Amino acid sequence: EFRYGEYSTVTVVTPNGKVDFGKDSPLVVIAGPCSVENEEMIVETAQVVKAAGAKFLRGGAYKPRTSPYAFQGHGESALDLLAKAREVTGLGIITEVMDTADVDKIANVADILQVGARNMQNFSLLKKVGATGKPVLLKRGLSATIEEWLMAAEYILAAGNPNVILCERGIRSFDRQHTRNVLDLSVVPVLRTLTHLPITIDPSHATGKSQYVPTMTMGAIAAGTDSLMIEVHPNPAKALSDGPQSLKPQEFQELMLEVKPLAQFF
Ligand code: PEP
Ligand code: MN
Repeated sequence: EFRYGEYSTVTVVTPNGKVDFGKDSPLVVIAGPCSVENEEMIVETAQVVKAAGAKFLRGGAYKPRTSPYAFQGHGESALDLLAKAREVTGLGIITEVMDTADVDKIANVADILQVGARNMQNFSLLKKVGATGKPVLLKRGLSATIEEWLMAAEYILAAGNPNVILCERGIRSFDRQHTRNVLDLSVVPVLRTLTHLPITIDPSHATGKSQYVPTMTMGAIAAGTDSLMIEVHPNPAKALSDGPQSLKPQEFQELMLEVKPLAQFF
């Protein structure tokens, strides 16, 4: 039995108060670096994105990298840095959980638990994050159908946790020459017919190139997304992960100024 249509708004309690994702709520912007690299960069980025209008800081502590030799994230010490950035800015924190063994420790710091594209069908992880009752941002799998994605969400709902936000981050196609993935913006109107779960669009992982992020951000807003997740790095050229798709602080500020008249989020 499908149950994923029963819920509507996800409320996340942050140090700055409550933020509603979904129906009739202002656009929620989540921003920050792909990975938490050090204290200075995460605190600086947090301050910049907050001033520009973001309500949540993103930053990976545990990173799902294609190569085992690539930077894997600083783990637990990065969680402490995210807590520090929240203390300084009051922003809500979202970070990825990859392993059931880390769920409780991450849930102690994060306001939203992120389940990444590569773990969308990690059913033990879905059950475990469901059991925490914490808001969960569930990314669409690399090649997941909408049905598979919604049934993955259903695992979290079935565990008794109604606080699921669906995140479209681009799907795999045959052509990766000019974009990393294909941003499926049609999920916004399609999901509206299937579920009341709120939607986030991630134009950064979808395009893989910072130059395309502003246009796809505007497209996502036009399609009616509830939220956006955008990667921002103080020095993308030196980023330990996903530099090419990360906006510079000034680019993010400019984008938020463009977005502001279209979506009241201040
Ligand atoms: C991320 O958000 O940094 C990430 C790894 O995303 P995805 O799971 O969509 O690839
Ligand atoms: Mn990333």
